[in-house]
Amino acid sequence: MPTAIIFDIKRFAVHDGPGIRTTVFLKGCPLRCWWCHNPESQAKEPYTVDIERKVNGQSIPGRKTYGEKIEVAALMETLLKDRHFYEESGGGITFSGGEPMMQADALAVLLEECKKNGLHTIVDTSGFAKCEQFERILDHTDLFLYDLKNMDPELHKKYTGVDNGLIQSNADFLLESGAQIIFRIPVIPGISTSDDEVNRMVFFIEERKEYLKEVHLLPYHRISENKYFRLRMKQQLPEVKEPDQKFMWQLKEKFEKTGLDVFIGG
Ligand code: SF4
Repeated sequence: MPTAIIFDIKRFAVHDGPGIRTTVFLKGCPLRCWWCHNPESQAKEPYTVDIERKVNGQSIPGRKTYGEKIEVAALMETLLKDRHFYEESGGGITFSGGEPMMQADALAVLLEECKKNGLHTIVDTSGFAKCEQFERILDHTDLFLYDLKNMDPELHKKYTGVDNGLIQSNADFLLESGAQIIFRIPVIPGISTSDDEVNRMVFFIEERKEYLKEVHLLPYHRISENKYFRLRMKQQLPEVKEPDQKFMWQLKEKFEKTGLDVFIGG
């Protein structure tokens, strides 16, 4: 069995899909979103860095390792420990990242093993991967949480580092193949919230609504600021404020015009 590189495992997760779940965060991501909440996930290999912590306003230096290699068989043993909770709550396993599709071999085996054990599976993806990799995991993935970040290709490239053509064509491939998808839209004021962006996003979803059940709007939050500081990484969005509740409800109404259920948050 292959080895996976993970940077976290979150047990008893309730925001990463239905029921009580374990979320496995796989390392590595080809994107560089300006608002990324998990910058430690972006490099594929584990690494150790000098870090700084803020304690009572003072900087305390230290070292921390992000990521570990783990045999898929050992990871499955961990995931199966909470089987009872998944069964009772209608939950299961969510594979997130980083971009889980970057570890295509490990992910395919993990999903297959989960299904062999009767577990519900979710892949939380940016959609930026070869179409064949999605084809490979289709039969063992119950639901895709699929990000839509920007509709304008230039904006997408500017704010994530990659083009959105592949992402949109993979979404269509999955939908036409009968996959269950929930589109998740990061709401980043000034980046994905212009009238043009919202209208294009609503149009994109409306055209595909017969295949969809719901849409999630994910409000930007600044909780990762301290992470950037610790990692001594430059945060790209220091000036952006979190969207307020009124704005989120107005946005929800615009997306509800598609006729789909729209939720704020995961
Ligand atoms: S796709 Fe997700 S993990 Fe990758 S850079 Fe963007 S926000 Fe971060």
